[in-house]
Amino acid sequence: MTSLLNQHVLVLNRLWQAVNICSVKRALTLLFEGRAQVVFDLGGNYRTFNFDQWHDFSQREPHDESVSTISFRIRVPKVILLAVFDRLPKKEVKFTRHNVFERDQNTCQYCGNRFERRDLNLDHVIPRDRGGPTTWENIVCSCIPCNTRKANHTPQEVGMKLFRKPKRPKWRPFVQVNLSVNKDDSWKQFIDVAYWNVELG
Ligand SMILES: [Zn+2]
Repeated sequence: MTSLLNQHVLVLNRLWQAVNICSVKRALTLLFEGRAQVVFDLGGNYRTFNFDQWHDFSQREPHDESVSTISFRIRVPKVILLAVFDRLPKKEVKFTRHNVFERDQNTCQYCGNRFERRDLNLDHVIPRDRGGPTTWENIVCSCIPCNTRKANHTPQEVGMKLFRKPKRPKWRPFVQVNLSVNKDDSWKQFIDVAYWNVELG
């Protein structure tokens, strides 16, 4: 029950753009407050359900993935659509690990090679203990060999050069979601759409 409530739900804005991921708990709250509807693929068509409709549907078609309150059981939503227009993607790109990887395109900024994310670190260009801040301008992707070589030095000190000057990206991602979380199959359509609609340049 606890783990079900913490599962991930994809959040769409009014334009059906994927904008976030929230917990089942949060999604049910938004649904209950009338601030979101559940999106559900019903025989190939996406239908939206408000709280009452989703509650009825949960009784009509019970499912293992349901949570119980004191008075009723309700199915766990996978995708919700926000009713209010308050979740347009933010103008400013969030400074997250995911977005640094996105900006640097999974490329080590010292040797210029591409890696799997698990083989990349985030590196402080000016080391942290020498006053280097944790900012867009001072954090880059680095592969483990480059990271080891650079250690606690500035790039100049060890004769390394940055591939390009790190800065705050200008793009505005539609999906500011951590894509390493387990994605539900029902998200695919929306994530794919978002992928192709990301503003470039
Ligand atoms: Zn490298």
